[in-house]
Amino acid sequence: MCKIYVVGIGPGAERQMTILADETLRQCDVIVGYTVYIDLVKNRYPDKTFLTTPMKQEAARCRMAFEEALKGKKVAMICSGDAGIYGMAGLMYEVGRDYPEVSLEIIPGITAASGGAAVLGAPLMHDFAVISLSDLLTPWEKIEARLRAAAAADFVICIYNPSSKKRADYLKKACDCVLEYQSGDTVCGLVKNIGREGETCRVLPLRELRDTAVDMFTTVYIGNEQTMEIDGRMVTPRGYRNV
Ligand code: SAH
Repeated sequence: MCKIYVVGIGPGAERQMTILADETLRQCDVIVGYTVYIDLVKNRYPDKTFLTTPMKQEAARCRMAFEEALKGKKVAMICSGDAGIYGMAGLMYEVGRDYPEVSLEIIPGITAASGGAAVLGAPLMHDFAVISLSDLLTPWEKIEARLRAAAAADFVICIYNPSSKKRADYLKKACDCVLEYQSGDTVCGLVKNIGREGETCRVLPLRELRDTAVDMFTTVYIGNEQTMEIDGRMVTPRGYRNV
């Protein structure tokens, strides 16, 4: 029985990869992934065969991985962050139904939410909800319903895929949903290029976040009612009483 490793490489290039992810990629023959992520790891594993497909050809990328495994190659499918969080792990299991002779092993990675949280301070110290604003695979009405539910329940909200060329005003719409339940003073944060060149972050109130342009390499954090700014950092208290 052959096996494919589905590997989360962390939010940055190399330094935020786990030792297990690195060891796994070292012992593979073929590394499959989206072009951008292949470019991030190429130099570290110069002797490997790299196979890529563009965005939106995810199922074809999965099939490519299974076909290589059937040829007897040791294959890794890489994703940024964690492979099981808006990554390829789920689709690999779905496509894998057609390849019963191949098993899967998922190697976890640091997801953008925790990578960016460390840059901002400590925004995710209490209950939080992760919501993607990408409506490619989820209807926008459902995304709004989830935003409202999370805001009504006073979760810290961590937003993935906050923008794209076609979705320039989605963050504004998302903030408007949250503003139905939370104050404009709510402490928010954003981190761009986590762990990569050009990493930047900002802490700002919700009313300002609403009018801020972000790109698809940004992760956004909307605090809960207790979240505060301490020395320019975004901090959600855990609730310890004696401070
Ligand atoms: N599997 C990935 C998420 C992929 S969805 C993970 O676990 O992190 C893509 C979204 O993740 C981006 O639009 C962005 O919101 C976030 N993201 C991924 N890598 C990032 C990085 N290095 N810096 C900032 N945001 C990132």
